[in-house]
Amino acid sequence: MQSTTYTIAEIAKILNADANLINKDAIIQYLVIDSRSVLVPESSLFFALNAHRNGHDFIPDAYKQGVRNFVITDIKFIELYKDCNFLCVNDGLKALQSLSTFHRHRFSLKTIGITGSNGKTIVKEWLYQLLSSDFNIVRSPKSYNSQIGVPLSVWGITADNNLGIFEAGISGLNEMGSLEKIIGPEIGILTNINEAHAEGFSSKEEKLKEKLKLFENAELLIYSPDYVDEFNLVHLPAKNKFTWSCMQKADLQVIDEHFFEDKCALKAIYHGINIDCVLPFKDKASIENGIICWATLLSLGYTAEESRNRLSRLSAVTMRLELKNGINQCSIIDDSYSADISSLGIALDFLNQQNQHPKKTVILSDLFETGRADEKLYTEIADLLKQKKVHRLIGIGAHISKFAYLFRLEKAFFVDTDAFIQSFSNGQFNHETILVKGARRFEFGKISKLLTQKIHDTVLEIDLNAMVANLQFYRSKTEARVKIMAMVKAFSYGSGSFEIANLLQFHKIDYLAVAYADEGIALRKAGITLPIMVMSPQESAFEAIITHKLEPEIYSTEILKAFLNALDDVTSLYPIHLKIDTGMHRLGFDDCDLNDLINLIKNNQKIKIESIFSHLVASAEAEHDGFTQLQLNKFEHVVAKLIAVLGYKPILHIANTAAITRWPNAQMDMVRLGIGLYGFDAGLPNNRNIQTTMVLKTTVTQVKIVKKGETVGYSRRGVMAEDGKIATVKIGYADGYSRAFGNGVGAMVINGISVNTIGSICMDMTMLDVTGLDVKAGDEAIVFNHDHNIATLAKQINTIPYEILTNISQRVKRVYFYD
Ligand SMILES: *Cc1c(COP(=O)(O)O)cnc(C)c1O
Repeated sequence: MQSTTYTIAEIAKILNADANLINKDAIIQYLVIDSRSVLVPESSLFFALNAHRNGHDFIPDAYKQGVRNFVITDIKFIELYKDCNFLCVNDGLKALQSLSTFHRHRFSLKTIGITGSNGKTIVKEWLYQLLSSDFNIVRSPKSYNSQIGVPLSVWGITADNNLGIFEAGISGLNEMGSLEKIIGPEIGILTNINEAHAEGFSSKEEKLKEKLKLFENAELLIYSPDYVDEFNLVHLPAKNKFTWSCMQKADLQVIDEHFFEDKCALKAIYHGINIDCVLPFKDKASIENGIICWATLLSLGYTAEESRNRLSRLSAVTMRLELKNGINQCSIIDDSYSADISSLGIALDFLNQQNQHPKKTVILSDLFETGRADEKLYTEIADLLKQKKVHRLIGIGAHISKFAYLFRLEKAFFVDTDAFIQSFSNGQFNHETILVKGARRFEFGKISKLLTQKIHDTVLEIDLNAMVANLQFYRSKTEARVKIMAMVKAFSYGSGSFEIANLLQFHKIDYLAVAYADEGIALRKAGITLPIMVMSPQESAFEAIITHKLEPEIYSTEILKAFLNALDDVTSLYPIHLKIDTGMHRLGFDDCDLNDLINLIKNNQKIKIESIFSHLVASAEAEHDGFTQLQLNKFEHVVAKLIAVLGYKPILHIANTAAITRWPNAQMDMVRLGIGLYGFDAGLPNNRNIQTTMVLKTTVTQVKIVKKGETVGYSRRGVMAEDGKIATVKIGYADGYSRAFGNGVGAMVINGISVNTIGSICMDMTMLDVTGLDVKAGDEAIVFNHDHNIATLAKQINTIPYEILTNISQRVKRVYFYD
């Protein structure tokens, strides 16, 4: 069945927009807010929103991709693009929201609205698993729950759907009202309320009250009094309530929790009757989410027995794409989370960010898209693969195979996953990036297992979305004209090389900086085309620097002379960066060098001074603010002298991470963002407003019973105070876990509990005191994450986060997540 579409003229009317239409019959099917994620340009309507960046800046890019329909607030574009339809509105976001609200209210489907501090996405995905045999469900893609995400989600409703499950997230006051209007939920679920994301609210109560606004017009609210009681609210929204609790009387009162294997058996009293279920999970968060789903099934009228059957079959939800190393130098992007066209678009964008291999392969299963005929669906997918420059398709499933003729690229088809696996040979995949994307029932996990290298059990997980969020945060703290140079030296502070650079390139950062030429060359070989500054350009590398178009930092007249010599055969002006020493006393020109420098650069026909910069020694520390000001004054003074002889103004920069927020008037023409990108900023109290990007995990290899007085590890440094138990984990100082953490100084977290080291740290292993705890071989041990954070670890051993991060050795596998 055809999905619901609108003509641009109809949309103009709905939005009450000032329309400038050259083709009023243009059909609109997709709403787009990011020029990089255009799926089908002809039927896309681009909303130029003013979020982190001005959306109007991306109109040229969207146009280039074939988009011809735009919602704008700046009318000058009408003159610039004469062959496009424009709808002019006062507020792009409001327009997007009112269009979705209109669309939503054309349909009378049942809707579930979910909000709360945690678990929204999991509960949504699980309800989808639990209810899809009875309903044709439309749901929010991934965790699209913001002011922008909700309208985009709701736009997905078609006439075929009879149930919508949408999540709503807020970050401050007066945000839920608009989401309530768009979703209009009949059934509401409040997952929980905790301290997380309390930023935008003055109190927990205020936050709760704002969240409850989602349910103002609901018929039924499912919630736990445990999260609500403390506030003595006079009024809870919704006509009817269904409550659950593990602590007090409720419609569903859980009275017993029992763990076995990897499962949790629950007993409960439901309206006076004893019932039970088994959840195939054992972590706290999953159990709570499972109970919420249980309550939802019961409140919808499912019997205790039917609910039990369905809950026992829940499967884990990974919402993120995973990028990891594969066989034969391949990069593997693993995405078996959902298989619909919008998530395919997201995955292909991510594939396209990866420039490290010229060849791109997609392994794709049948997609199950409601409201679209197969032929049309696979035609769109074929267009999409072409547009995203995919080289090879391996299609798995009867449906995609039937439409093989639509795909014009290198291709192969298999009826099912097993057929593919049977014909699999290792040599078919070499030096390429492979996206593995399939609907759950195709069990593509088996395929990614074949394609990935075996992972040593210590893994550094890098959250690329958090990194982008941090970048956006610093963008929001700088004026639009201020460029950003991202510091990716030392494997991007330990987080990765081309993986991070690809992400930054995709997000249109202005500059990259590395320490050594080798690092820059590696990035060039991985397809990074951004300008790259090299901070320690040794003379022996000049030739390579020039060949790879890297830009040296020039810090002395000697190095300048040597570089000028190396430029003998270069005909165009070569970009270089001048480093001024204003107080660091590390590298850079001093006052006494200035005359020589000026003589060398005056009228020089070989070089262009691309930038002049210096480095602050203590931008985060208030006690040194006087010195920072002196550095700024000195820099200004030197710059004035240099510009006077150059006759042009290079880019000026001095601010590192902490200076961006603490010294806004030092932002000049560019800032150099380092540690803030990776989640630390000594200038922000408690790293407020930036996100943790890295989690280091390892695994328990063995658990031993050790008697009182016995010793643990080398030199008998660890002594058991009582009879107890130790767990050995697979990380040691050769992995970057400092020896200074030994003998109880450091701790890791196993099953949610912090356990101290005992004995000295070994080269490849560490022993932890797990006396009295339920720990077994194979359990995960967190070395650091958001709660068990690096800042605290650094303090314990008298160092700084920079050192902890950059010490993590290359033998620790990096896995990248993106959603
Ligand atoms: C490493 C470095 C930075 C980044 O510093 P952060 O404190 O990590 O932001 C900036 N400038 C120079 C010259 C650097 O070497």
